Amino acid sequence: LPAHLYVHVPFCRLKCSYCDFFSVPVEDAEGVEAVLAGIEEEILEWGRARLSGILDTVYVGGGTPTIIGPGVIRILESVRTSLPARTDGEVTVEANPDSATARLVEALAAAGVTRVSLGVQSFDDEIIGLLGRLHTVEEAHVAARAVCDAGLDLAIDLMCGVPGQSLRSWHCTLEEGIETGAKHVSVYPLALEDGTPLAVAVGAGLVSSPDSDAAADMMLLAEDVLGAAGFERYEVANYAVPGHESRHNTAYWTGESYIGVGPAAHGMLDPETAGASGVRTGVGTDVARVRYSNASDIEEWLQGAGRDVETLSKAEVAREDVMLGLRLARGVGARIVAAAGLEEQLRQLEAEGLVELAGGGVKQRWRTTTRGWLLGNEVFRRVWLPDQ
Ligand code: SF4
Repeated sequence: LPAHLYVHVPFCRLKCSYCDFFSVPVEDAEGVEAVLAGIEEEILEWGRARLSGILDTVYVGGGTPTIIGPGVIRILESVRTSLPARTDGEVTVEANPDSATARLVEALAAAGVTRVSLGVQSFDDEIIGLLGRLHTVEEAHVAARAVCDAGLDLAIDLMCGVPGQSLRSWHCTLEEGIETGAKHVSVYPLALEDGTPLAVAVGAGLVSSPDSDAAADMMLLAEDVLGAAGFERYEVANYAVPGHESRHNTAYWTGESYIGVGPAAHGMLDPETAGASGVRTGVGTDVARVRYSNASDIEEWLQGAGRDVETLSKAEVAREDVMLGLRLARGVGARIVAAAGLEEQLRQLEAEGLVELAGGGVKQRWRTTTRGWLLGNEVFRRVWLPDQ
């Protein structure tokens, strides 16, 4: 059994203007019930596969899991009864400030949740409005307090590079974020995704385009402000007070296997587990990892259909490990880079000041520089597609 489980709850109150994650508006109780029953059944199926191993982390994300209230507790209960899990495991639930009530947060704590990841994005009501989010700054503070009062680890998401966002507004957002008591802060530059209302508004000239230079300045400010408050940047977009790093997300970045449950959820398995669980039978010889994504059409997913399965060869896995390792502050071992045949590419990136070699002897590691992190996608693309 992979040590990590992701459950996708595909509901939101309404769509935020920039979002292209898979979620649908909550329409009726029957729709929610059908999805909950489907999630329970999928978890049960993993239990029936009787794989050896034990869960270390569970992450209920979305969408907005807290919008289904006690439904989240049903999901956790179903995990508890179907799959073996460590008693000191990490259990995270994503929440939005308008649906993370004190009552629900306390119930989540009682159900074994250890972390709440709150989608704050900004402590500036104007920016929140432009992002089409449905909460207010005040609600974000109330929800953050509820999470801390319940004794849970608070993680918050903040967004920079939003049109109209000043460096001053961003600075205040960082400071207010720190004051919430969060031990983990994710910082994302706004990305314009095709087809989203925000991208349409930018295309029509109603909103100015996100400015990548401004976003880069904001990322640098985040590093300074969060660093001064005791946070360490452990991944390109993630900061934590030492000891509060997300174990679940670290598993993604270190190539560990994980199960994905729910519509549009992704999973990644070793070939043996993929075979034993029926995700993919008859895996060929040069297959080192199996990735799957569940159907995003809810009806199709409920019928157990439409799952996409992709296999990665040993060479692809090696490249993927290097790419993921370069997202982490600790970087990736020089021997892993050499085994992946990527030394030359990294030497070129080094000459451009995007990566550096740190440490000595067998402990040598390639790490992304601050400049490289600002141009992260360029680094990751050249590692993933070295011939282009
Ligand atoms: S709450 Fe999150 S998942 Fe839902 S629409 Fe907004 S950004 Fe997307």
